[in-house]
Amino acid sequence: MRKTGTGIVMLIMIVFLSCGGNDSKGDKDSVTGMQAVLWSQFSAEAEALYLQAFNIASQVMRDSVDGNHDKSLAVILDIDETVLDNSPFNVEMMRKGTSYSEELWAEWCELRAAIAIPGALEFTLLAEQLGIDLFYVSNRSVKLLDSTLDNLNELGFPFADTLHIMLKKESSSKDVRRASIREDHKILLLIGDNLGDFDGVFDDRSDEYGKVELRKFKDDFGSKFIVLPNPMYGSWERGVFPEGRPGKEEVLEKLRGY
Ligand SMILES: [Mg+2]
Repeated sequence: MRKTGTGIVMLIMIVFLSCGGNDSKGDKDSVTGMQAVLWSQFSAEAEALYLQAFNIASQVMRDSVDGNHDKSLAVILDIDETVLDNSPFNVEMMRKGTSYSEELWAEWCELRAAIAIPGALEFTLLAEQLGIDLFYVSNRSVKLLDSTLDNLNELGFPFADTLHIMLKKESSSKDVRRASIREDHKILLLIGDNLGDFDGVFDDRSDEYGKVELRKFKDDFGSKFIVLPNPMYGSWERGVFPEGRPGKEEVLEKLRGY
Protein backbone atom coordinates (compact mmCIF):
# COMPACT_ATOMS: atom_id res chain seq x y z
CA MET A 1 0.00 0.00 0.00
CA ARG A 2 2.78 2.34 1.01
CA LYS A 3 4.54 1.70 -2.26
CA THR A 4 1.37 2.45 -4.26
CA GLY A 5 0.93 5.68 -2.30
CA THR A 6 4.49 6.71 -3.10
CA GLY A 7 3.83 5.92 -6.76
CA ILE A 8 0.78 8.14 -6.78
CA VAL A 9 2.72 10.99 -5.13
CA MET A 10 5.47 10.57 -7.74
CA LEU A 11 2.89 10.64 -10.56
CA ILE A 12 1.30 13.79 -9.15
CA MET A 13 4.76 15.39 -8.90
CA ILE A 14 5.56 14.47 -12.49
CA VAL A 15 2.25 15.93 -13.70
CA PHE A 16 2.78 19.03 -11.53
CA LEU A 17 6.32 19.57 -12.75
CA SER A 18 5.28 19.04 -16.35
CA CYS A 19 2.70 21.81 -15.99
CA GLY A 20 5.24 24.29 -14.67
CA GLY A 21 5.54 26.67 -17.58
CA ASN A 22 8.63 25.14 -19.20
CA ASP A 23 7.67 25.05 -22.86
CA SER A 24 10.28 22.59 -24.13
CA LYS A 25 8.92 20.02 -26.58
CA GLY A 26 9.14 17.18 -24.06
CA ASP A 27 7.11 19.18 -21.58
CA LYS A 28 4.45 19.85 -24.19
CA ASP A 29 4.20 16.15 -24.96
CA SER A 30 3.83 15.12 -21.33
CA VAL A 31 1.13 17.73 -20.72
CA THR A 32 -0.90 16.67 -23.71
CA GLY A 33 -0.23 12.94 -23.74
CA MET A 34 -0.13 11.41 -20.26
CA GLN A 35 -3.84 11.12 -19.55
CA ALA A 36 -4.47 9.83 -23.07
CA VAL A 37 -1.91 7.03 -22.69
CA LEU A 38 -3.21 6.12 -19.21
CA TRP A 39 -6.71 5.81 -20.62
CA SER A 40 -5.57 3.78 -23.60
CA GLN A 41 -3.54 1.31 -21.53
CA PHE A 42 -5.71 0.87 -18.46
CA SER A 43 -9.34 1.85 -18.96
CA ALA A 44 -11.84 -0.96 -19.37
CA GLU A 45 -13.77 1.57 -21.48
CA ALA A 46 -10.99 1.57 -24.11
CA GLU A 47 -11.12 -2.21 -24.35
CA ALA A 48 -14.94 -2.10 -24.47
CA LEU A 49 -14.82 0.35 -27.40
CA TYR A 50 -12.43 -1.92 -29.32
CA LEU A 51 -14.64 -4.95 -28.68
CA GLN A 52 -17.75 -3.00 -29.65
CA ALA A 53 -16.16 -1.91 -32.92
CA PHE A 54 -14.92 -5.38 -33.86
CA ASN A 55 -18.27 -6.94 -32.87
CA ILE A 56 -20.08 -4.58 -35.25
CA ALA A 57 -17.53 -5.27 -37.98
CA SER A 58 -17.91 -9.04 -37.48
CA GLN A 59 -21.67 -8.77 -37.83
CA VAL A 60 -21.36 -6.78 -41.06
CA MET A 61 -19.12 -9.53 -42.46
CA ARG A 62 -21.46 -12.33 -41.43
CA ASP A 63 -24.44 -10.49 -42.95
CA SER A 64 -22.64 -9.88 -46.26
CA VAL A 65 -20.81 -13.07 -46.94
CA ASP A 66 -23.70 -15.09 -48.44
CA GLY A 67 -24.81 -12.50 -51.00
CA ASN A 68 -23.98 -12.56 -54.69
CA HIS A 69 -20.80 -10.69 -55.41
CA ASP A 70 -19.04 -10.32 -58.75
CA LYS A 71 -15.74 -9.57 -56.99
CA SER A 72 -13.99 -11.11 -53.98
CA LEU A 73 -14.88 -9.43 -50.71
CA ALA A 74 -12.19 -7.52 -48.83
CA VAL A 75 -11.77 -5.66 -45.57
CA ILE A 76 -9.15 -2.92 -45.26
CA LEU A 77 -7.51 -2.42 -41.90
CA ASP A 78 -5.09 0.23 -40.76
CA ILE A 79 -2.23 -1.14 -38.61
CA ASP A 80 -1.19 1.29 -35.86
CA GLU A 81 -3.75 1.68 -33.08
CA THR A 82 -6.04 -0.52 -35.19
CA VAL A 83 -4.44 -3.96 -34.97
CA LEU A 84 -1.18 -3.05 -33.15
CA ASP A 85 -0.94 -1.20 -29.84
CA ASN A 86 1.97 1.25 -29.92
CA SER A 87 1.19 2.99 -26.64
CA PRO A 88 4.58 1.90 -25.15
CA PHE A 89 6.24 4.10 -27.79
CA ASN A 90 4.32 7.09 -26.44
CA VAL A 91 5.42 6.18 -22.92
CA GLU A 92 9.04 6.06 -24.08
CA MET A 93 8.74 9.54 -25.63
CA MET A 94 7.38 10.88 -22.33
CA ARG A 95 10.18 9.18 -20.36
CA LYS A 96 12.80 10.66 -22.65
CA GLY A 97 11.09 14.06 -22.66
CA THR A 98 11.17 14.10 -26.41
CA SER A 99 8.65 14.33 -29.22
CA TYR A 100 7.98 12.15 -32.25
CA SER A 101 10.69 11.61 -34.82
CA GLU A 102 10.91 9.13 -37.66
CA GLU A 103 14.13 7.71 -36.16
CA LEU A 104 12.55 7.01 -32.78
CA TRP A 105 9.48 5.56 -34.43
CA ALA A 106 11.63 3.25 -36.58
CA GLU A 107 13.55 2.12 -33.47
CA TRP A 108 10.27 1.15 -31.80
CA CYS A 109 8.95 -0.67 -34.89
CA GLU A 110 12.22 -2.59 -35.27
CA LEU A 111 11.68 -4.04 -31.79
CA ARG A 112 8.61 -5.86 -33.17
CA ALA A 113 7.20 -5.56 -29.65
CA ALA A 114 3.69 -4.18 -30.25
CA ILE A 115 0.88 -6.28 -28.82
CA ALA A 116 -2.49 -6.79 -30.52
CA ILE A 117 -5.38 -4.39 -30.02
CA PRO A 118 -8.18 -6.18 -28.11
CA GLY A 119 -10.52 -8.01 -30.49
CA ALA A 120 -8.39 -7.38 -33.59
CA LEU A 121 -6.87 -10.85 -33.91
CA GLU A 122 -10.19 -12.62 -33.41
CA PHE A 123 -11.78 -10.34 -36.01
CA THR A 124 -9.11 -11.02 -38.64
CA LEU A 125 -9.29 -14.78 -38.03
CA LEU A 126 -13.07 -14.65 -38.51
CA ALA A 127 -12.60 -12.80 -41.81
CA GLU A 128 -10.20 -15.50 -43.00
CA GLN A 129 -12.64 -18.21 -41.93
CA LEU A 130 -15.47 -16.49 -43.88
CA GLY A 131 -13.30 -16.33 -47.02
CA ILE A 132 -12.87 -12.55 -46.93
CA ASP A 133 -9.51 -11.08 -47.98
CA LEU A 134 -7.77 -8.67 -45.62
CA PHE A 135 -5.50 -5.80 -46.61
CA TYR A 136 -3.44 -3.85 -44.11
CA VAL A 137 -3.08 -0.32 -45.51
CA SER A 138 -0.75 1.66 -43.24
CA ASN A 139 1.32 4.83 -43.34
CA ARG A 140 4.28 3.09 -41.80
CA SER A 141 7.20 3.67 -44.15
CA VAL A 142 7.90 0.88 -46.61
CA LYS A 143 11.34 0.67 -44.94
CA LEU A 144 9.55 -0.88 -41.96
CA LEU A 145 8.02 -3.72 -43.98
CA ASP A 146 10.15 -6.53 -42.50
CA SER A 147 9.62 -5.53 -38.89
CA THR A 148 5.89 -4.99 -39.51
CA LEU A 149 5.55 -8.41 -41.16
CA ASP A 150 7.39 -10.07 -38.28
CA ASN A 151 5.37 -8.29 -35.60
CA LEU A 152 2.02 -9.20 -37.20
CA ASN A 153 3.07 -12.79 -37.94
CA GLU A 154 4.39 -13.39 -34.43
CA LEU A 155 0.99 -12.33 -33.09
CA GLY A 156 -0.76 -14.72 -35.50
CA PHE A 157 -2.49 -12.21 -37.80
CA PRO A 158 -3.65 -13.79 -41.09
CA PHE A 159 -2.81 -12.22 -44.48
CA ALA A 160 0.39 -10.76 -43.01
CA ASP A 161 2.40 -11.02 -46.23
CA THR A 162 3.88 -8.68 -48.83
CA LEU A 163 0.77 -8.88 -51.01
CA HIS A 164 -1.63 -7.80 -48.28
CA ILE A 165 0.46 -5.30 -46.32
CA MET A 166 0.54 -1.97 -48.18
CA LEU A 167 2.82 0.58 -46.54
CA LYS A 168 3.57 4.18 -47.50
CA LYS A 169 5.87 4.70 -50.46
CA GLU A 170 5.32 8.34 -51.46
CA SER A 171 1.91 9.74 -50.64
CA SER A 172 0.50 9.52 -47.14
CA SER A 173 -2.99 9.56 -48.69
CA LYS A 174 -4.26 6.01 -48.77
CA ASP A 175 -6.62 6.60 -51.72
CA VAL A 176 -4.27 5.21 -54.38
CA ARG A 177 -3.67 2.02 -52.43
CA ARG A 178 -7.39 1.62 -51.77
CA ALA A 179 -8.13 2.11 -55.49
CA SER A 180 -5.73 -0.69 -56.41
CA ILE A 181 -7.54 -3.05 -54.02
CA ARG A 182 -10.90 -2.00 -55.52
CA GLU A 183 -9.77 -3.14 -58.98
CA ASP A 184 -10.51 -6.76 -58.10
CA HIS A 185 -12.25 -6.60 -54.74
CA LYS A 186 -15.46 -5.28 -53.32
CA ILE A 187 -14.46 -3.46 -50.15
CA LEU A 188 -16.90 -4.41 -47.45
CA LEU A 189 -15.42 -2.47 -44.55
CA LEU A 190 -12.64 -0.06 -43.69
CA ILE A 191 -11.35 -0.08 -40.12
CA GLY A 192 -9.04 2.47 -38.53
CA ASP A 193 -8.37 5.02 -35.79
CA ASN A 194 -7.93 7.97 -38.16
CA LEU A 195 -10.56 9.25 -40.60
CA GLY A 196 -7.98 9.16 -43.39
CA ASP A 197 -8.18 5.37 -43.06
CA PHE A 198 -11.60 5.60 -44.75
CA ASP A 199 -11.34 8.27 -47.42
CA GLY A 200 -8.90 10.98 -48.46
CA VAL A 201 -11.61 13.65 -48.16
CA PHE A 202 -11.19 13.46 -44.41
CA ASP A 203 -7.54 14.50 -44.57
CA ASP A 204 -8.65 18.14 -44.80
CA ARG A 205 -9.48 19.33 -41.27
CA SER A 206 -9.94 23.01 -42.11
CA ASP A 207 -13.74 23.13 -41.89
CA GLU A 208 -14.78 22.72 -38.25
CA TYR A 209 -11.80 20.40 -37.70
CA GLY A 210 -13.07 18.08 -40.46
CA LYS A 211 -16.50 17.61 -38.89
CA VAL A 212 -18.37 19.24 -41.80
CA GLU A 213 -17.01 16.63 -44.20
CA LEU A 214 -17.52 13.88 -41.66
CA ARG A 215 -21.26 14.62 -41.33
CA LYS A 216 -21.77 14.03 -45.06
CA PHE A 217 -20.85 10.39 -44.42
CA LYS A 218 -22.74 9.96 -41.17
CA ASP A 219 -24.69 6.89 -42.31
CA ASP A 220 -21.50 5.02 -43.22
CA PHE A 221 -20.17 4.84 -39.66
CA GLY A 222 -20.92 1.43 -38.19
CA SER A 223 -21.83 -0.08 -41.56
CA LYS A 224 -18.93 0.69 -43.90
CA PHE A 225 -16.47 2.67 -41.73
CA ILE A 226 -15.50 1.30 -38.30
CA VAL A 227 -13.68 3.83 -36.10
CA LEU A 228 -11.45 2.86 -33.20
CA PRO A 229 -10.51 5.21 -30.34
CA ASN A 230 -7.10 6.90 -30.25
CA PRO A 231 -6.76 9.87 -27.91
CA MET A 232 -2.93 9.74 -28.07
CA TYR A 233 -2.30 11.14 -31.56
CA GLY A 234 -3.82 11.50 -35.01
CA SER A 235 -4.76 13.88 -37.80
CA TRP A 236 -7.29 15.49 -35.43
CA GLU A 237 -4.35 17.24 -33.72
CA ARG A 238 -3.43 19.02 -36.95
CA GLY A 239 -7.00 20.33 -37.21
CA VAL A 240 -6.93 21.77 -33.69
CA PHE A 241 -3.34 23.06 -33.65
CA PRO A 242 -2.06 23.47 -37.24
CA GLU A 243 1.25 24.86 -35.90
CA GLY A 244 2.07 21.67 -34.01
CA ARG A 245 1.67 20.35 -30.49
CA PRO A 246 0.80 23.11 -28.02
CA GLY A 247 1.84 23.89 -24.46
CA LYS A 248 -0.55 23.95 -21.51
CA GLU A 249 -1.50 27.62 -21.88
CA GLU A 250 -2.42 27.24 -25.55
CA VAL A 251 -4.51 24.18 -24.72
CA LEU A 252 -6.40 26.07 -21.99
CA GLU A 253 -7.04 28.97 -24.34
CA LYS A 254 -8.49 26.58 -26.90
CA LEU A 255 -10.66 24.51 -24.57
CA ARG A 256 -14.34 25.35 -24.12
CA GLY A 257 -15.14 26.25 -20.51
CA TYR A 258 -18.47 26.99 -18.91
MG1 LIG B 1 -3.63 4.20 -37.13
